[in-house]
Amino acid sequence: MDATEFRKRGKEVVDAIADYYESMADMPPLSTVEPGYLYKIMPLEAPEEPESFDEIQRDIQSKIMPGVTHWQSGNFFAWYPSNSSFAGILGEMYSAMFSVVGFSWLSSPAATELETVVMDWLGKLVGLDRRFLSIREDGTEGDGGGVIQGTASEALVVAMLAARDMALVGRRRAQGAATEKEGEEEDDGARSARLVAYFSDQTHSSGEKAANILGCRPHAIRSDGSYRLTKGALLDAVRRDRAAGLVPFFVCGTFGTTNTAAIDDLAGITEAARDERLWFHVDAAYAGAALCCPEFRPLARGIERADSFSFNPHKWMLTTFDCSALWVADSTHLVRALSVHREYLPRTKGTTSFAKDYRDWQIPLGRRFRALKLWLVMRTYGAAGIRAHIRAHVAEARWLEEQLVADGRFEIVVPVVFGLVVFRIRPGCLFDGGGSSSSSSEEEEAAANRANTELVQRANTDGRVFLLGSRLRGVDVVRVAIGGAQTSHRNVALLLEVLTKAADDIVPGR
Ligand SMILES: *Cc1c(COP(=O)(O)O)cnc(C)c1O
Repeated sequence: MDATEFRKRGKEVVDAIADYYESMADMPPLSTVEPGYLYKIMPLEAPEEPESFDEIQRDIQSKIMPGVTHWQSGNFFAWYPSNSSFAGILGEMYSAMFSVVGFSWLSSPAATELETVVMDWLGKLVGLDRRFLSIREDGTEGDGGGVIQGTASEALVVAMLAARDMALVGRRRAQGAATEKEGEEEDDGARSARLVAYFSDQTHSSGEKAANILGCRPHAIRSDGSYRLTKGALLDAVRRDRAAGLVPFFVCGTFGTTNTAAIDDLAGITEAARDERLWFHVDAAYAGAALCCPEFRPLARGIERADSFSFNPHKWMLTTFDCSALWVADSTHLVRALSVHREYLPRTKGTTSFAKDYRDWQIPLGRRFRALKLWLVMRTYGAAGIRAHIRAHVAEARWLEEQLVADGRFEIVVPVVFGLVVFRIRPGCLFDGGGSSSSSSEEEEAAANRANTELVQRANTDGRVFLLGSRLRGVDVVRVAIGGAQTSHRNVALLLEVLTKAADDIVPGR
């Protein structure tokens, strides 16, 4: 394909993208194909001779489109959203245009420096403490800074690697002093195997995965009645593990858990982490975007003393996937854990906070120019536009909560704080007279679980919306995440209509 052909096809593709988004609001979000659908209709080998772009475009429509789950549909309420925007897509196009592999400052100064600039912008936009910024208010270099990762899972692994470096260095020093007396030294491998990373039973699966990748021990602590990790429970676990000869080194607190959008006791965990010398990482993958709005910041008290913080602008902040923002307050351990030297990778002379080698801040060597799309999003929406986007969804979530409560058949399971509404059909309304003596509470709970599972199935079978259930301590609940970039009141009203109609078929007497 030459530049002339590219001009023509590029315009067609941009039109196709715009058409897709214009027809998006009412698109059934869930694909209905069966596993293996594509394999059956695809050739078994790549074509020997070049094919025409017309043919390829036809196949996008006829073969690919049926198997797409439309995450950008306004009627998509499953998982957490993955916002895209035209600004973000245009940023991706520019990124593809340059196609740089910006692992060091020299490999593309603009890619590196724009990332430093926009991560400081973003850090200020969500009200992060200055410790996390690359450049201080007075223009001098900070010890910390931000970096764009692909996903929150990668951010967690990277933070944990930095934490392990901190723990091993600290242990080595302590051991060094002891060794003089005892004459033996434990190697890093043996120490690593005794390291313990703490989470709650509500922490995203990526916490356990990160611990598995590092070969350390994941310790999931039971969350409290509000699904939060508390300081007391953390300290108990740490002390028991120390007594058993293990080495606590890392704790992950969550701002907005995946199941219920719960907020861990971040202020308490900060204190525990300081006293117990743990690296404190805050995972705010979804809800971090809400910190653009000052009214949500009191909920995040404690993050100012964390060692690392991450959230995904690709979830609820209009930045086309992938874009996960990670900040560290002090990059020393991170860079030491991840830098490896080779002659063909000359270290940038005079590396500073203004001119980093970001390869030392991530797992791969190569990296995309993702800062462009974040820059485009922040400039085209402005802070005001981003805040309006967040607040509109929070208002919709509260509206849905009110309607569900007013209906009488539903109960809200956890308070609505952001865009997540977790609710269920009340067990009482499944039985005549609301909990009559003929049925035990266990029977009622079992019936309620079946009813709520059925509610999710019926709503999804309707086809116009897509949502998921979840299970909280044996209780089946319905989980609706409002936050799609195309989701407006019309979509949430449709969702309510589908839910009430499904409930009509499940709850007797209506
Ligand atoms: C979505 C989510 C993640 C995982 O996000 P990825 O970027 O896909 O790795 C981690 N933590 C929380 C709290 C999440 O909601």
